[in-house]
Amino acid sequence: MKITDMLRFAGERGEPIFSFEFFPPKSDAGVGALFESLQALRPLNPSFVSVTWGAGGSSRGRTLELVTRIKRETEIEAMAHLTCVGVSRAELTEQLTILRDAGVQNVLALRGDPPRGQREFIAHSEGFAYASDLLKLVLEVGKDLCVGGACYPEGHPETRDLARDLRNCKIKVEAGAQFLITQLFFDNHHYFDFVGRARAAGIEVPILPGIMPITNVEQVERFTALCGAQVPPMLAAAMRVRRSDPEQALQLGVAYAALQCADLLRRGAPGIHFYTLNRSSATRAILAALRAQEPWREL
Ligand code: FAD
Repeated sequence: MKITDMLRFAGERGEPIFSFEFFPPKSDAGVGALFESLQALRPLNPSFVSVTWGAGGSSRGRTLELVTRIKRETEIEAMAHLTCVGVSRAELTEQLTILRDAGVQNVLALRGDPPRGQREFIAHSEGFAYASDLLKLVLEVGKDLCVGGACYPEGHPETRDLARDLRNCKIKVEAGAQFLITQLFFDNHHYFDFVGRARAAGIEVPILPGIMPITNVEQVERFTALCGAQVPPMLAAAMRVRRSDPEQALQLGVAYAALQCADLLRRGAPGIHFYTLNRSSATRAILAALRAQEPWREL
């Protein structure tokens, strides 16, 4: 089912949608563990899972293979991420054709980050410089594909001017993005401020908040340094205290993210996209708590 239809049907019932993001494991054992996680997720009724495209354009084949296998072997809908890194228009067309022909209906079209060691993004000589170009190609290859894009409540690291970044985001929506998923953030103020600015700028598509429960202090420091998300001072202090105790850090991360999600849903977010980093037990616990409390009913 298309993500836009999921959002519409869930919205009519006054319910949110929940999705889980995984990256393609490198080993067969990792793939086995991923499919075990998917089985464990099923009772919680996720709307879809998404499989990332390896940073720097790595893991291309594995993303396609995993998404088509998830579609075939589980009853969970799957979305493929696709990036422009190091690929020509012809190669992207080929990858999209494989996905379309395998019955994959949902694609997240991204530009991607520069490969490691390279500071600026350099487009392939026969490829694309921006996600909006890839979005157009997705819809050329499959008129019926449902395609989304990324957005940045705190601004993209290369475009810290929020108004300019929002104008670029609008270009993406005008190119055909039917929904947006946000970069991770730890302060809900950033999400609601972004949604308000997007609506005022004429961006009407659903905006799914992307949430990453902290499972490890060093990891969150690395990610936030990369993507520029701010960690609220009180959370940063609570994390520092638990630096040498991974179990305590994990518990803090799960509890913080559960509170964050409940607040987002109570205030009208259309769902939650969980960045699981392939450690989905933390996110499963959060989703179980949300389903037990249904904060969206308090709207
Ligand atoms: P774009 O929308 O092209 O934006 C990139 C930069 O260019 C921004 O600064 C923007 O403001 C600017 N820009 C856009 N259009 C224009 C224009 N027309 N003129 C001038 N400037 C413009 N990376 C991966 O490698 N694999 C993944 O699977 C992956 N999944 C992701 C999932 C989500 C939900 C998110 C939020 C990010 C993901 N990323 C992934 C990271 C993403 O690839 C990077 O953030 C990347 O730097 C930007 O990608 P984009 O699609 O937002 O690019």
